[in-house]
Amino acid sequence: MATVRLDGVRKVYDNGFVAVDDASFEVADGEFLVLVGPSGCGKSTLLRMIAGLESISAGTLSIGGRVVNDVAPRDRDIAMVFQSYALYPHMTVAENLAFGLKLRGAGREEIARRTREAADMLGLDGMLDRRPGQLSGGQRQRVALGRALVRDPAVFLLDEPLSNLDAKLRASMRVEISRLHRRLGATMIYVTHDQIEAMTLGQRIVVLKDGAIQQIDTPMRLYDAPANLFVAGFLGSPAMNLFDVQATVDGSAVVLGTASLPVPGGALAGRGGTRVVAGLRPEQLRPATDADAAAIEVRVDVVEPVGNEVFLHAEHAGRELVARMPPHGALPQPGERLRLGFDPARLHFFDPGTGRRIG
Ligand code: ATP
Repeated sequence: MATVRLDGVRKVYDNGFVAVDDASFEVADGEFLVLVGPSGCGKSTLLRMIAGLESISAGTLSIGGRVVNDVAPRDRDIAMVFQSYALYPHMTVAENLAFGLKLRGAGREEIARRTREAADMLGLDGMLDRRPGQLSGGQRQRVALGRALVRDPAVFLLDEPLSNLDAKLRASMRVEISRLHRRLGATMIYVTHDQIEAMTLGQRIVVLKDGAIQQIDTPMRLYDAPANLFVAGFLGSPAMNLFDVQATVDGSAVVLGTASLPVPGGALAGRGGTRVVAGLRPEQLRPATDADAAAIEVRVDVVEPVGNEVFLHAEHAGRELVARMPPHGALPQPGERLRLGFDPARLHFFDPGTGRRIG
């Protein structure tokens, strides 16, 4: 079983900097787990510790039920794919694919078979005699994936494998990686700073900030119930609108500028009369109708049509907000006043001090 388990894993670099603190989670056999967070949050350090390329300062790392803290990378039954591809420039594609197997002393037939299978799976058949310099970025990345594939490891570790590719190629490689994961049924741990990659690839996502895990959950749970303000703001584009608001004394509404917004059933129990942060995803806002229980009046600032939708940047009582609208009908104009409605059940609430989700 290729489970990967971390218990209280910590990384302190030689200069005393704590890059990862108290990381604990388990990756199930065959799971696709994504580590995501902004630059410097410690995601590569975490992956490199799992790979054995970085020592572990404290805590326990197990792969397949075996503690591997002190096991050399080559004995961990993992294969890693790097952002930089790390291909040998003087070798052909076939030689690059076969290299790891040769090192391990695999027989000629086995090497030929596994190389053929990987080339077939990744559409590299026609390129086996080329050198990396004669390949496009996407093809090179495929070879890098192929090199991991031929080793048939228990766990694949992927460190931003698509970030050197252009947006279109990235989108198509994303689908290929998903397909590959389904075919292989292997455990995969994937590092990215790209929230779209994280959301589309991950069966579960670990969100990191400043070396600390913020939340671990499925993509939709992270999106629908972010555990704190950081996660709320990190996932979703445009980002969730966040407002400092005042709860009414009985907690049945919050006051945002000149608007009073009803708070459904006890969401702010015990918080009457206090300040809280209210969050609302841009896609929840739409032109208000009489049926709307909650509405705010806004002044339109910037209108961004992006084809299948329109981003409306607007302002209410000095607070900026973004609405994501369908592209139908006449576009609102800058300076125009509009009423935007939403379902109050879609409001998120956070503690302004700790940033933690309320309720
Ligand atoms: P990026 O997306 O930019 O690669 P990351 O989330 O992968 O970022 P890491 O590379 O894991 O981040 O680095 C985490 C933190 O540890 C950063 O603040 C980095 O400066 C620091 N760091 C990395 N390597 C070392 C080192 N050898 N010595 C000291 N600090 C380091």
